[in-house]
Amino acid sequence: MSMNATDSKIIDTIVIGGGLHGLSAALHLARAGRRVVILERSWVGRHASGASAAGVRTLNRHPAEIPISLEAMEMWHNIGAIVGDHCGFHANGQILVAEHPRHLPVLEKRLALTRDAGYRHEELIDRAELLRLVPAISPHCTAALIARQDGAADPHRTLQAFRRSAEVAGVVIHEGFGVTAIERAGSDWRVRTEQGDFTAPTIVNAAGAWAGKIAAMVGEHIPLGYKASMMIATERVAPLLKPVVSVVGRPLSFKQSDQGTLVIGGGLQGRADIEAQKSFVDFSELAKGARTATDLFPSVGTIRIVRTWAGMEAKTDDHLPVVGASPTVAGIFHAFGFSGHGFQLVPVVGAILSDLIVHGGTNRPIKRLSADRFLQKHAAE
Ligand SMILES: Cc1cc2nc3c(=O)[nH]c(=O)nc-3n(C[C@H](O)[C@H](O)[C@H](O)COP(=O)(O)OP(=O)(O)OC[C@H]3O[C@@H](n4cnc5c(N)ncnc54)[C@H](O)[C@@H]3O)c2cc1C
Repeated sequence: MSMNATDSKIIDTIVIGGGLHGLSAALHLARAGRRVVILERSWVGRHASGASAAGVRTLNRHPAEIPISLEAMEMWHNIGAIVGDHCGFHANGQILVAEHPRHLPVLEKRLALTRDAGYRHEELIDRAELLRLVPAISPHCTAALIARQDGAADPHRTLQAFRRSAEVAGVVIHEGFGVTAIERAGSDWRVRTEQGDFTAPTIVNAAGAWAGKIAAMVGEHIPLGYKASMMIATERVAPLLKPVVSVVGRPLSFKQSDQGTLVIGGGLQGRADIEAQKSFVDFSELAKGARTATDLFPSVGTIRIVRTWAGMEAKTDDHLPVVGASPTVAGIFHAFGFSGHGFQLVPVVGAILSDLIVHGGTNRPIKRLSADRFLQKHAAE
């Protein structure tokens, strides 16, 4: 427990980054009785969380993420009770399509992997079932893997709900407060911003694409890449499909929002300028996503695109996030590197950070997500 130099308020935890992961960690900590401030350089939701496609997907997750992703999915099915709003979440399933018979072994191998590990949330469906669930899909598609409990949410509604709940729980959010340095202050950490300093014994590093810079401020050098995933939104059209559709071998995530717009993503990469905090759409790359969408849904070829955008976030070498206590410095807790699929994990990762900070440990299996894996590799090089 320590005093904040600018207004003499006592703070237990400083959360750096006002994206969804910062908000979720702050919310869970405040509900556990901790006094929390969020320092956000721009405004809440400015980067990945406000740009997200908001797919709520357990389907085709890395095995190391499956247990926490399944727990997050239970939380999404109860999200109204957690943050007082349904966040626009609909559980109409996520589907991974095999266009051609040669893609079928990819699905069969994946199914075997999850079944062998004891999971039952993914299921193989044939063409007839695929066409029943998604009548608009091109009949050349052969089969699919489905997670029926998956779905999608509204990213902006989700941001509002997490923000509101965090504030009701007592979290103080400072927007326009960029962290410039972190230093030791006895057993506490002093976090410097241009608007003043904040001091607390614990820090959550939820700074998204810039989390590596925050880690470096406390002396931890975690090699991180970044992504600038792009999205397309079309004009509103009549109801076309309910599940979220992706496809083997091509980047695509295709869904329809509550408002009727088609929302097309899937990880096609634009360009990011991390220093300038800006990302840019690469239209020739984006055209590939539009082509995949029209190959799978021939009826959408004449629909107008009304908006495109890109959003930045950190990418790790193994595409798994860094979640957990810093392996080298006491009082620092990481939640970043979600590599393009962190939206679904938001409710559970906040609960994990609260476990770690309040109770000093967690029952959730996060060992594989420790920053240690990169620090050891770095040391060996
Ligand atoms: C286009 C796109 C589509 C996506 N689609 C999906 C999807 O369908 N499903 C899914 O699960 N995931 C998806 N994701 C990923 C998901 O959105 C992210 O994993 C998640 O939003 C990351 O949240 P965050 O809070 O970690 O990061 P962010 O939302 O980026 O928040 C980090 C915050 O830290 C702040 N910050 C940085 N440096 C400092 C500093 N020095 N001082 C103070 N503040 C600082 C930034 O301003 C930023 O607001 C998508 C991402 C993008 C970009």
